[in-house]
Amino acid sequence: MNIPRPRGTRDLLHETLRAFLRIENAASSVFERFGYQPIRIPIFERAELFIRSVGEETDIVSKEMYTFQDRGGRDLTLRPEGTAGTARAAIENGLLSRGEARKFYYTGPMFRYERPQAGRYREFWQTGIESFGSNDPLIDAETILCAQLFLDELNIAPVRIRLNSVGSGERHTYADALKQHLQPNFENLGPQDKARFENNALRLLDSKDPNTKRMLENAPSILDFLSDESRAHLDAVQNALDAAGVKYQLDPSIVRGLDYYTGTVFEISVDSLGAQDVVVGGGRYNGLIEQLGGKPTPGIGFAAGIDRLALAMSAQDSLEETSPLIQVWIVAIGEEAKPRAFALLNEIRRAGMRADMDYQGRGVRSQLRTADRLNAHYAVILGEDELARGEATLKKMSDGTQESAPLDETAARLRQSVPTNT
Ligand code: ATP
Ligand code: MG
Repeated sequence: MNIPRPRGTRDLLHETLRAFLRIENAASSVFERFGYQPIRIPIFERAELFIRSVGEETDIVSKEMYTFQDRGGRDLTLRPEGTAGTARAAIENGLLSRGEARKFYYTGPMFRYERPQAGRYREFWQTGIESFGSNDPLIDAETILCAQLFLDELNIAPVRIRLNSVGSGERHTYADALKQHLQPNFENLGPQDKARFENNALRLLDSKDPNTKRMLENAPSILDFLSDESRAHLDAVQNALDAAGVKYQLDPSIVRGLDYYTGTVFEISVDSLGAQDVVVGGGRYNGLIEQLGGKPTPGIGFAAGIDRLALAMSAQDSLEETSPLIQVWIVAIGEEAKPRAFALLNEIRRAGMRADMDYQGRGVRSQLRTADRLNAHYAVILGEDELARGEATLKKMSDGTQESAPLDETAARLRQSVPTNT
C-alpha cells in the first residue's frame, strides 16, 4: 500500500532543494554581515504563545494553527511563524536583560493549515531576522536594506518594496473610521469580511474580495491618522531609505496580518510569481516583548518565504550550473582490485574530494555510465594490469583522455586536477 505524504507538505528534491540550500546560505551570509546571530527554537511551542502574540482574531490563530494535546494534556502548536518563539527565547534566556540591543536570525519549517496551492503550503520554510532593543528608525531602514541585499544575492529581481506605518494606538481610531466608511454597505460584505469587520477591521485591507476592494477605494488612509510621533518615525525611515538609494512605494493598504505589529510595516513582492507574490513581510513590534512578559523592549524584523523565493529563482532561471555530486568515480575491475580501490577511495576522500565507487558488482561500462551521469570530473580505473604495475588509470570524463599515475600518488594528482570550487 502506498502511503502518500500529507496534503500541503512537499518532498524537497533536486533543483528545489538546491535552491533552498542556496537561499539558506545567502541568508546566513547576508544576515551575519548585518550583525545577526543564528538561533534555533522549538518547532512546537505552547499554543498560548501564539494566541497571545500573533493575536486571537488573526487568520493564523483563528483558523491556521496546528494545535494538539500531547500525552500530558498540554496544548501545543506547531509554530506558524518565527517571531513569537524568538522573542520568547530571548526573554527566557535572559538575552535582553542588560538592555543591550540583540539581533537574531532563524531558518526552519513553519506550519499553517491553509488551502494548498502554488506558493502556499501547510509545511513551508521561512528565514527571518529579529532585532530587539532599538526604536531608531535607522534600524527599520537597515532591516529593509538587509532584505534587499538578501534578494540581490539570490539575483531575484525586480522586486517591489511597499512601506507603511500602522501607528501604535492610532490603528484603533483608524479601524473605527474604516468601519464607519463600510457600515452603510455592511450587508454586501462576504462572510469572512463581515467577521473581519467585527473583530479586526484593519484586516479588511487584506481582503481579496473584489467587492470589498471596490468599497475600500475611497476609504480613509491610515497615514492621515498617524500621531506626530508615528509620522516623524515614518519620515525618518523614508529619509534613510532615500539616502541609501532604495526604491520603494508608500502603500497605506499594507497592514500585515499579525496583531503584534506597531509602526513600520513592509512587504516585498516579486512580479513574476503571480498570485502568491509576497516573499518578505516584516515590521516593528514594540509591544511584543512586554506582551510576552519581558521588560518593555522595542523590536523589528522580517520573515522571508523560502518556498516562494525558490519558485522565483526557478522562474528566473537564476540557478547556475551547480557542482557535481561526485567528483571522482572509482572503477574496480575484478575482485582482487577491489580492496585496493577501496583504500584509494578513502585516500581521495581524505584529500577533500567527493568520491564514490560501485558496491553492486556492476560491469565496467555501466560504472562508466554512472560516472558520466554524475558529471564526475574523473573516473579512476583499477584493474589487474594497473594493479600489477602499481598504477591507476585516470580518465578525464570531459574529453575521454587517459593518463596513468602511481597508486600512491593518485590522490595527490587528482587533488591538483579536480577544480577546487566544484
Ligand atoms: P499571505 O498573505 O501570502 O498569506 P502572510 O501575510 O500570511 O502571507 P507572513 O506571515 O508575513 O505571510 O509570512 C512571511 C512570508 O512567508 C510570506 O510573505 C510568504 O512568502 C511566506 N509564507 C507565508 N505563508 C506561507 C505558506 N502557507 N506557504 C508558503 N509560504 C508562506
Ligand atoms: Mg497567510
